[in-house]
This record gives sequence, C-alpha cells and structure tokens, in this order.
Amino acid sequence: MLQVAVKRDLACTTVVYLFDLLALKNTQHTSRVLQEVLQSSALVKIGYGMYEDLGALVARMGDCCATAHPQLDIMHAMVALAPAGIIPPRSLSDACDALLGQSLDKTQQCSAWGNRPLTDAQRQYAALDAYCLLMLYDKLLERAIQHDLSLPTHRLCWPEGPKPPQINKVMISPNITNTRFYKPWPEGDSPRFVCDDMLEGLARQLRLCGVDAASVYGVVGAGHQLPRHQVHRVLVDLAHLEQRVVLTKDKSFVRAGYIDCAWLVQGTHRHTQLEEVLHAFDIRVGMDDVMSRCSRCNGELLEEMFTRDTVPVQALGNVPPVGVGKSGIWVCGQCYNCYWQGMQYARARLHLKERFGKKAGGGDAVLQNV
Ligand SMILES: [Zn+2]
Repeated sequence: MLQVAVKRDLACTTVVYLFDLLALKNTQHTSRVLQEVLQSSALVKIGYGMYEDLGALVARMGDCCATAHPQLDIMHAMVALAPAGIIPPRSLSDACDALLGQSLDKTQQCSAWGNRPLTDAQRQYAALDAYCLLMLYDKLLERAIQHDLSLPTHRLCWPEGPKPPQINKVMISPNITNTRFYKPWPEGDSPRFVCDDMLEGLARQLRLCGVDAASVYGVVGAGHQLPRHQVHRVLVDLAHLEQRVVLTKDKSFVRAGYIDCAWLVQGTHRHTQLEEVLHAFDIRVGMDDVMSRCSRCNGELLEEMFTRDTVPVQALGNVPPVGVGKSGIWVCGQCYNCYWQGMQYARARLHLKERFGKKAGGGDAVLQNV
C-alpha cells in the first residue's frame, strides 16, 4: 500500500490517496508517474524512516522508484531540531505523541493486509499514517521558524551507496520468496534483534555475547502463552519502535510480510542458532561484549564491579552464596540480577573458544547465574 497525503489547494485541504500496489499493474505508465512524483523538484516528499519505504517501493515497482528528491524525513528533521527542544522520536507514534499530543491507533497494523477488499478500518489506518506526516511537518516547520533553523531535505537513493552484502538482502528459506532485506539500525550502530517466543534460548545466548536481543517473553513475561497474532504484534511493534531485526521460527510471520527486517532462523538448537545469526549478520564477539549484558532481561550490566558488601540494595536478593564471587560481581542495571565467575566458568570458556574461538579472541570469562 502506498499512501500519499497532499495539500491540494490554497486552502490547504489535505487529501490522502491510497495506491494499492498489489492491484496496480507495474506498467510503463505507472512507473513514469511514480518517477515524476518522486523526482519532482516542486514536491517535497515527506516520510518517516523513508529509506525503508523506498526500498519496499523499489522491490515492488522497480528502479523507477529508487530516487526521491527533495525528500524530508520527519525522523531526521526531529533530530536536526534538537536545538529547538525537540526530542528525537523512537517511532512515528512517538513523534505524534510528542508533537501532536495524540497517539496513532495501531490496532490495524497486524491485520490481514493481504486480503481484498481492505476494510474501512484498514483504509483509515493507512490514510492516517500519511496524513499525520503533514501535520508533523507543519509543527516542525513552525518550530524551525521560531528558532531560526531549517528543516533538512535530501536526495534519497535506494540502495544508498554501495549495495549491502548479499546476505542482508535475502530471507533464508527455500519455501519463502526472497525479499530485499537490509539492516534497520542506523549505520554504525550495534545490531539489535527481537526474538519470537520460540527463540528465548537464542535471545539469552545472544545476550551472553553482548548482543542486544529483546524478546517477546521479555515484554509479556516468561511462560505467558499469547495467541499468534499478539506475538506478531509485539514483534512488529518492537521492530519498528527500536529498529530491530525480528528473529523468528514462524514462517507465517515472514509470509505475512508485516515487516521486511525479519530473519527466519533455521537452526534447531540455541547454539547452532547463535552461530547462524552471528555469521549472517557478521557479528564479532569480543571479551568486552561478553561481560556487558544481562542474559535474563537484556539490560546492560553496570560498568562497576561489586563485592557482596557493595552491591546496590536492589541486588541484595541476588548475590552469590558465601564463598563464591570473590573476583567480583556484575550487576544488571535493569533487573539487578547478579553474575559472577563461578563453577560454569571453565566449561563455558571452553564452549566459547570452541564455538567462536577466532571471533572471541580467546575468551577469558563467562557468566555464572545465567
Ligand atoms: Zn537484567
């Protein structure tokens, strides 16, 4: 679905057009119209996280949609307006909350978008997604003028710069159509994942390697059985809000096409799954990473090392038994779980060396109490 909101006349009446790309034939005429709109210097193309949208459009309609100019991304504009007191948003809904004082209703986000005809609620949801961008733009422009700042416009090209490595463009399952795929986190950021409810073991393994891996159970609590559509909803929300790649065992999630940034995990054991993900996303695990994250909640461990006498009061219930943890205690800054070098140390060290010896650089410490 391509939604376009435009201000139509001098009275600035806003009209939203919904283009059903499933129904729209990819003819020369369609391509030319899209290209003219995207490249018209008279039309500023406003979006939120537009690079991803442009990628999806190219995947569907071809290279005619590979360039948008001039283009303004609300997300980038809000970052640029930090001097005017604007706080960079984590999502479009966040931006609406902050600038318009209203939240976006996301109840339709995980509805059946492959079905036709679309329901009124779906069309309204789609239209609102584009409409709110114009409202946000007006607010930002107002704020920019007040503070003598300007809103940044760019030429947006997809793909940007050198093509992403092949591995990032492809979903891996012989049964599922390969899809263009790219990392959703900003260039230079560390990888971020969200694991579905069948991959909690993988989430913990990733955290042990210092990789940021949220999970469905991290949100709803371990052992809570959710209906599939609610699991999907949590995955989509977290992926969008925090720019995470979804790691899933659920083919129906990938087939539904809710999100491009999903990886269908092939491995059946948490260790092989870990290797698969580290390899696929070219993640190198160093010693500093290993001691950095809580395997239970994905929070970051406090930098300071503690003793039994100095742990924060919130962690008192989690300190190791007397006689162990003498070389220091790590404390999670989020859930205050404690970690220490303990009986599993040698075994885990050996395991890390065997699995990731080259990448881990001869790993030298592993956590107890995981
Ligand atoms: Zn924790």
